[in-house]
Amino acid sequence: MEFEASRAKAVDKLNYFVENNLSEYSKLRNFDFGPNNRSNISCLSPYITHGVINELEVINKSLKKFSFVKNEKFIQEVLWRTYWKGWLELRPNVWSDYLKELNNLRNEFKGNQNYLNAIEGKTELECFNQWVNELKENNYLHNHTRMWFASIWIFTLGLPWQLGAELFLQHLYDGDAASNTLGWRWVAGIQTQGKHYLASEWNIKKFTNNRFQNIKLNENALPKVSEKSYPLIKREFINPQNIEDENLLIFENNISFEITDFKENKFEKIYIVSNKNENRSIKLSEKLVKFKSLLMEDQKQRLKDKSIDCEVIDISEIKNIENYYSLYPTVGENLDYLNSNNLKMNFLYRDLDQLAWQYCNKGFFNFKIYIPKIISKFN
Ligand SMILES: Cc1cc2nc3c(=O)[nH]c(=O)nc-3n(C[C@H](O)[C@H](O)[C@H](O)COP(=O)(O)OP(=O)(O)OC[C@H]3O[C@@H](n4cnc5c(N)ncnc54)[C@H](O)[C@@H]3O)c2cc1C
Repeated sequence: MEFEASRAKAVDKLNYFVENNLSEYSKLRNFDFGPNNRSNISCLSPYITHGVINELEVINKSLKKFSFVKNEKFIQEVLWRTYWKGWLELRPNVWSDYLKELNNLRNEFKGNQNYLNAIEGKTELECFNQWVNELKENNYLHNHTRMWFASIWIFTLGLPWQLGAELFLQHLYDGDAASNTLGWRWVAGIQTQGKHYLASEWNIKKFTNNRFQNIKLNENALPKVSEKSYPLIKREFINPQNIEDENLLIFENNISFEITDFKENKFEKIYIVSNKNENRSIKLSEKLVKFKSLLMEDQKQRLKDKSIDCEVIDISEIKNIENYYSLYPTVGENLDYLNSNNLKMNFLYRDLDQLAWQYCNKGFFNFKIYIPKIISKFN
């Protein structure tokens, strides 16, 4: 499987999926038929994560093909991402605590053979080893497999979830602070306290079409416990009233200016901000760094084709730029850099996030109630 780093390819993938495979999505989405057969899911996450295409574009296209009722499951999945983002925005300490815990655990597990076997795909579990290789080779794993992987990591191999989440962020093309951290916390049983996800042999066999045999798992483990609780931090995501002709910074989560809510505004120049590994707490694999850089080059070319002045810069160069707005980078490595370097800026928030994030104060079941309202606002 291949993820080509261009908006044109992303749009092709979206169109193809909607035309040919969306109709069976809710029936088949849980099957992982292997990396050479991914037609039952969209594989759009590497593009959505980078804002190459966005949630509304995907949802609108699906609604042109089928009714809301027929599409409900797909739309819910697309908006899970928006929900996780909003949930983390209201509790940003979950991310900063995660990074602190990770730092301590890295030292503790540096020479741990169990850990080294896991990250090298040399455990006694054939399926797990294959998934480690798949993660590194394809930079993608099916959602169900991510759940099994995380569950095996935590409950069968007995490793800390924080280190597994790091491995994912190092390699996944769709690696995202919110979906990943909260996905791992959810499997461990600390996101919804006391409710964990336990992978089982029959479930893996069934949903991989019996591709794996003899899967010896700990199927009786108890959920992990965390003493930390994260009360909601009330935040408002308000845009400036008049957006003047200034410069604009875009980060790696919004690499398609043409589809943003600010596409009609005039900006003097657009700076596409890249962030090197030396500034990141979690060091990305070479392939992932390349993928991001190609997406940025593709964006630059598209803007140039429209005669919009633009440049790719390193995040450390922001301090040399004056008079700018920036599309909000969301909780994660880029925002951490801005905060730790005391770079105060005027953020521009997406309309979708402004609306949806106010419903992220409770669980997803509560958020789901607002989905029709969210959709109707943008249709
Ligand atoms: C432990 C764990 C870690 C994860 N880490 C990430 C991550 O770093 N980045 C990431 O984008 N997703 C993450 N996910 C969510 C999910 O696995 C991927 O979004 C999905 O597999 C992407 O494949 P797809 O595009 O074919 O999804 P589809 O099934 O086609 O869904 C369409 C879109 O909906 C969104 N989506 C679907 N399922 C979820 C979900 N459970 N949570 C959030 N969004 C979802 C994605 O944007 C996806 O592209 C994680 C899940 C788990 C269990």
